[in-house]
Amino acid sequence: MKNQATLFLKTLALSILISTVVPRLANAQESTTVKILPQPGYYNMQIGDLPVTVLSDGTNPLDMAQLLLNAKPGELKSGFAESFLSTTVESSDNEFLIRTDGKLILVDAGSGDLLGASFGQLTKSLQNAGVQPEQIDAVLLTHLHPDHVGGLMRNGKMVFPNATIYIAKAESDFWLIPEALKNAPAAYKPFFEYAQNAALPYAKAGKLKAFKSGDVLFPGITALGSAGHTAGHTSYVIESNGDKLLILGDLIHAQAVQFADPGIAIGYDSDPKEAVSTRRRVFDDAVKGKYLVAGSHLSFPGVGHIKANGNGYLWIPVNYSTIVPK
Ligand SMILES: [Zn+2]
Repeated sequence: MKNQATLFLKTLALSILISTVVPRLANAQESTTVKILPQPGYYNMQIGDLPVTVLSDGTNPLDMAQLLLNAKPGELKSGFAESFLSTTVESSDNEFLIRTDGKLILVDAGSGDLLGASFGQLTKSLQNAGVQPEQIDAVLLTHLHPDHVGGLMRNGKMVFPNATIYIAKAESDFWLIPEALKNAPAAYKPFFEYAQNAALPYAKAGKLKAFKSGDVLFPGITALGSAGHTAGHTSYVIESNGDKLLILGDLIHAQAVQFADPGIAIGYDSDPKEAVSTRRRVFDDAVKGKYLVAGSHLSFPGVGHIKANGNGYLWIPVNYSTIVPK
């Protein structure tokens, strides 16, 4: 476990370092196909009786050639080129708002101020969708990486002062116990500090609940353990009236290549081998069940279906029809 944690932190530190020095879109081929312009940052849909809004925390350029593991020679360049992309892609950070039982439930909190100015837009997107942070009743966390917890706190204040945060016990045990920070090598302490600074103020206020896989957290929302990316990584099943959406969390990062070759892992995975087998297990079930899935880092809004395709999968994004309110 300690070795895995060390490897993970080493790659995470390296990755974040690399991602911050990649020139924004300067050399990216995708600029020839679409110029990205500002968006409102939210997307409304409905799962059975439950309104679900996908929210954007923004995007950030990531050099996937530096981050992805296990790819065959030439596989990344040709895989991204197939999608009219270079290996430096503008990566989405998506969060989800679910209305159930009269409550407003958020899945993940975005980056806050931790990862640069192009991220940290969740609060703005939420307000654009007509919801104030104070109205949020619960924040369900997929895991405690900075792009998922950073937005819990800003300027020393709780961003969601009336919310209880929900974390899988395995995840809180890994990141939040005092020994975790004490035992972490000096270079990697910041990542434990990010997690603790974000979550512990809620814990101290009696607003942290731990859960285990299979727990029904709210009507229509069930936790599904999907460890590998982190020790207690959790996906969330949203079900209502025969409709189903599985919020994957970080089971996939590079849609242009990891559907076709799910054996490709990413340096952010704390246990790349387990991450790969979890991806296959969860994706196989989604293929069989034909239900919708959504990913934190699939291109916003990151919602669609998965089909089997040879040894891998095919990603079919939903038809993004737009109904303009009268
Ligand atoms: Zn992430």
